[in-house]
Amino acid sequence: MMDAVSNIKIEKTKTSKIQSVDFNNIQFGKQFSDHMFVAEYKNGEWQDLRIEPYAPISLSPACAAIHYGQAVFEGMKAYKNDEGKVLLFRPRENAKRINVSAKRLCMPEVPEELFMDAIHQLVQLDADWVPQNEGCSLYIRPFIFASEELLGVRPAEEYKFMIITSPVSSYYTGPVDVKIESNFSRAAEGGVGFAKAAGNYAAALYPAKLGQEKGYKQLIWTDAKTHEYIEESGTMNVMFLIDNKLITPSIALNTTLSGITRDSVIKLAKDLGLEVEERRVAVKEIVEAARNNKLQDAFGTGTAATIAQIASITFEDERFELPPIENRTVSNKIAKSIEEIKRGRVADKFDWIYNI
Ligand SMILES: *Cc1c(COP(=O)(O)O)cnc(C)c1O
Repeated sequence: MMDAVSNIKIEKTKTSKIQSVDFNNIQFGKQFSDHMFVAEYKNGEWQDLRIEPYAPISLSPACAAIHYGQAVFEGMKAYKNDEGKVLLFRPRENAKRINVSAKRLCMPEVPEELFMDAIHQLVQLDADWVPQNEGCSLYIRPFIFASEELLGVRPAEEYKFMIITSPVSSYYTGPVDVKIESNFSRAAEGGVGFAKAAGNYAAALYPAKLGQEKGYKQLIWTDAKTHEYIEESGTMNVMFLIDNKLITPSIALNTTLSGITRDSVIKLAKDLGLEVEERRVAVKEIVEAARNNKLQDAFGTGTAATIAQIASITFEDERFELPPIENRTVSNKIAKSIEEIKRGRVADKFDWIYNI
């Protein structure tokens, strides 16, 4: 039924690499499963849909993505439940978001059914690569980039849509020390902050490196105009708990990425009876709360770590230690709840699970 939709040609590998992988000891994004999905955009349509052995690709040195950065991506994960069935978490949201990103960068959209079909068939074929160990999963990386040989500056007319997958172990490295960044910016109003664009990551590397040299695992980005409002934490959305209210920056100004984990946490928090505020969040407000011991919890949300609890926040010369992890009832509870939903251990009352 599925392949009737988009007619994907499948060429299976003759030599699986799976025996060479130590699933108890995997480094993030260093090993890739046997197959990849590829589609070519030419003459105004996606064509030559195929799944083939994972391998290097050949491109012109004048490939437009390399020069002018027309490149967007997604990140999602496949899990195995206790019976060994493969589950995806809200994949249609990734399908929608890659198109929001593509549109902003003048790139062709991928029909949602093509996106879903490609993921479904690829993950089905490489199902053995989805680790079953606790905390482990198969990371899925769909991406679109301009492949046209073109040094002229205009939207390219040829693109590739590809999907590669990589087994990953538990991302958890313990709570992180972060710094509120008031010089550099990740995104500006009117810019591409809401798009999952490759260039956003490139632009963030240098400030992040300066922060890391000072011992901060991540930066809390502030708005480009005034640096008075909080936007995100590294490549994650960020949330704070003050007076038992969950507070998170609004995505309305289009400078913050609309995270699927963010949306899921908001829905779960409301379901737990918590009050949730999506609005502008002033640096001053968070600093004041921290100073007065009213900042009960703070954490980043994203596909890679799900919930990354924040150990300390530094603003200018002041460092605030947050309550011990065992007291973070809200983030602990939500993290556990999302994990159980993703692994199909509890009823899927929000209809978030997609079965392969
Ligand atoms: C991908 C991403 C997130 C998190 O989004 P999820 O859908 O939860 O994985 C947050 N911020 C940025 C900048 C991102 O690129």
